[in-house]
Amino acid sequence: MLMPDNFPKKVKLREVGPRDGFQNVEAFIPTAGKLAVIDALATAGAREIEVASFINEKVIPQLADAEAIMAGLAGKKFIRSTLVPTPKYALAAIEAGADQLVVFLSASESHNRANVNRSISESLAGLDTVFSLAADHGVSVLGAIAVSFGCPFEGAVPPDRLLSIAETFRDLGADGVIFGDTTGMATPGPVSRLVKSYQDRFSANDFSLHFHNNRGSAMSNLLAAMQVGATTFDTALGGIGGCPTVPQAAGNLATEDVVCLLHEMGIETGIDLNLLITAARDMEALLGYPLPGQVMKSGPIDWQAGNP
Ligand code: ZN
Repeated sequence: MLMPDNFPKKVKLREVGPRDGFQNVEAFIPTAGKLAVIDALATAGAREIEVASFINEKVIPQLADAEAIMAGLAGKKFIRSTLVPTPKYALAAIEAGADQLVVFLSASESHNRANVNRSISESLAGLDTVFSLAADHGVSVLGAIAVSFGCPFEGAVPPDRLLSIAETFRDLGADGVIFGDTTGMATPGPVSRLVKSYQDRFSANDFSLHFHNNRGSAMSNLLAAMQVGATTFDTALGGIGGCPTVPQAAGNLATEDVVCLLHEMGIETGIDLNLLITAARDMEALLGYPLPGQVMKSGPIDWQAGNP
């Protein structure tokens, strides 16, 4: 297959299904079921997995078993990443054995307030302590920026604001930044421009792109980002995630769909597609409703089919 030279040879996928996906499932998923999904992902080759949020369990009851999840993953050989909103929860995550913390805020004031009931500067003020706690314990921190490509309340997000939040995260000691397209408003032009301006400003490629597929554009965005050198993406097994009331409508990019495409393009992921498909089908049985992933239904491309 003819490919432009600037596609990466290798891409890293951060698996977010067990956190971003499960938090949108209303009926409580038994801890053992969650652990089975995480284990299957790790066996398939996932090396960085968002396994839980340490967060007020009244806000997201689905993730109330974060400590039990971490206990069930003790000694596992992948990066156990957890979302944390404040220093108190960061400490709980570290004590439970997290290898990586993800702190987050929104690119727009109104979304930040709707999400965590604080202004952006109030959110940033609590982060100093999170970063120093993490540094003391040798735990890495990623800074995630929600609604990076458009806010449901304020519309367009100025790219300069994204870069200045990214700069604040980096100054605090973040090991990377995640740009979240929380509402599925990203399209290839803005994605490509953001990737290039980030690389220009920071001379670094230490960011991940987190695309939701509300409008079917997530895979196009991934391709546009790779064309200008992006190498890390957040994806979710089965394409779970998004809106709790319409679970099949607006998930993340499905990990197995991305792995299938990248392998066909000759780009390495370190993940076994067949194991991933089995994991997605088993998770669909666990959740009990149809998932949006495509390759889990079609199977991988079989170039031998029909041959004698
Ligand atoms: Zn998400």
